[in-house]
Amino acid sequence: MRRLTWTLVAILIAAGVFLFVLAPPAPVRVDTAGWESLAARTVSGAYHVHTTRSDGHGDKAAVAAAAAGAGLKFVILTDHGDATRPPDPPEYVEGVLMLDAVEISTDDGHYVALDMPRAPYPLGGTGEAVAEDVHRLGGFGIAAHPDSPKAALRWTDPSAPIDGIEWINADSEWRDEPRRRLIRAGLTYFVRPAGSLAMLLDRPVTLDRWDALLRTRRVVALAGADAHGGAGKRVEDPTRTFFSTIGIPSYEASFRELSIRAVVDRPLAGNAVEDAKAVLGAIRRGSVFSVIDALASPALLDFHAVPSGATVTVLARATVPPGATMVLLGPSGEIATSSGRELRHEVPSGPGAYRVEVRVAGAPGDPPVPWLVGNPLGIELGVPERDVDTRPGGGGMPGRIAPFPWRIEKDAASSAIVRTSAYAAELEYTLAQGSRNSQYVALATDVHQQAFRAIDLELQPDRPMRLFVQVRTEDGRRWGRSFYVDAAHTAVHAELSAMRGVGGLTDSVPSGESVTSILLVVDLTNSVPGRSGRLHVLSSALAK
Ligand SMILES: [Zn+2]
Ligand SMILES: [Zn+2]
Repeated sequence: MRRLTWTLVAILIAAGVFLFVLAPPAPVRVDTAGWESLAARTVSGAYHVHTTRSDGHGDKAAVAAAAAGAGLKFVILTDHGDATRPPDPPEYVEGVLMLDAVEISTDDGHYVALDMPRAPYPLGGTGEAVAEDVHRLGGFGIAAHPDSPKAALRWTDPSAPIDGIEWINADSEWRDEPRRRLIRAGLTYFVRPAGSLAMLLDRPVTLDRWDALLRTRRVVALAGADAHGGAGKRVEDPTRTFFSTIGIPSYEASFRELSIRAVVDRPLAGNAVEDAKAVLGAIRRGSVFSVIDALASPALLDFHAVPSGATVTVLARATVPPGATMVLLGPSGEIATSSGRELRHEVPSGPGAYRVEVRVAGAPGDPPVPWLVGNPLGIELGVPERDVDTRPGGGGMPGRIAPFPWRIEKDAASSAIVRTSAYAAELEYTLAQGSRNSQYVALATDVHQQAFRAIDLELQPDRPMRLFVQVRTEDGRRWGRSFYVDAAHTAVHAELSAMRGVGGLTDSVPSGESVTSILLVVDLTNSVPGRSGRLHVLSSALAK
């Protein structure tokens, strides 16, 4: 018996020693002496976090406690939703500023909206439609896990007017790792949780996509923790079982793995509303950088540009661990490196985005993940920011011509009537109450072999809404595009070429001649069961 006990103890000790040998090293302590004023304005936080409000394991208090434990000052909660829940006002919990945002599911992947009031109708549909709505509502939108190995989660619309992009997403990164690395990380997690999670990171291809976007417009990149605290059924992956049910990775491990740093104008004063403005303002203007804290910490970055005639001096200062390389990237790729704490480089004035990365020796991944990723700052891109409210085509409204002869199409339980006068039609509808059951109401009209390329409408709804303009062919296939309409935005120019297949249809859009019906659809993409409303069609015409 005694002998057996000793054997067991010996095995346990050996296993423990083995795990310690296998475990990744502790984060390198970075010396920040002399950088106190920048440190006071550099606020660390976690972005992209789920709570029990959606598919996370812990509530807001648990998340705040974990963030406090990891030394973070703010958390941006991003529970799944359609943006119709009023966001919680900013508040300090356990000394951590808790900011409430939303992760919206679109046809093109997940889209996080920050700093946005409640939406007047459920946001959904194409990525472009959601990004456009987020803009109109004054929010800041970020394409989440854009290169997730899971196709359903990948952000697939590179042309949508996004404001930001997750250059790395900790919840996506492990999915492409070989099993042997996952097993090793699963074992060493019990010795060094954050370091073991970081072992699964690589340099994401999203960085190349981001650089390509930066050649045309400003897009802010953030590291997404996508922390769920482990358990529960997940929107991201409902099939996950073992590690998720035992609460791995924990919030605190996720928060110690990677984080973002907002560089604010003056240190936070403890007023939640004012501090939220400062942090979100810094994110909006790109005064924010990301750090893989499990490799080395803390991190400070001061990045600015000084114009001097025909050139601009780009100046980056960062606290770096020994053996690190600071890299300046510009429109043509890597343009300068420094092995010290400062990098100074002259670039031609004019359009161009410049950003810095700090790479550390021994970083995990193939290719290795950068330790610090900054955002382009202080240099005019010279390319106008995209105006999302511009409708494609334009072309002017047709005169007040008699409308199409509209009739109603709807599901059996919803109700609708249409009243027509000489120059207008008015739809009055109520989507059926109860559970979501593909409720819809549509104004429909038939066309026959007309060579049109667009539909021009003048619409007036009783409240802001998003209307799905669709065309249908003889065989029932449909294509469409949604348009925002309210009292001030009444003109809709629906180009056939800008429409997309409805219901997963991937066939390309037919020519006007093969369209047999035009439909103005109100469905659950941007509405809810039980909702009623009115829509005036003031004019309708086909544009050749
Ligand atoms: Zn997601
Ligand atoms: Zn998420």
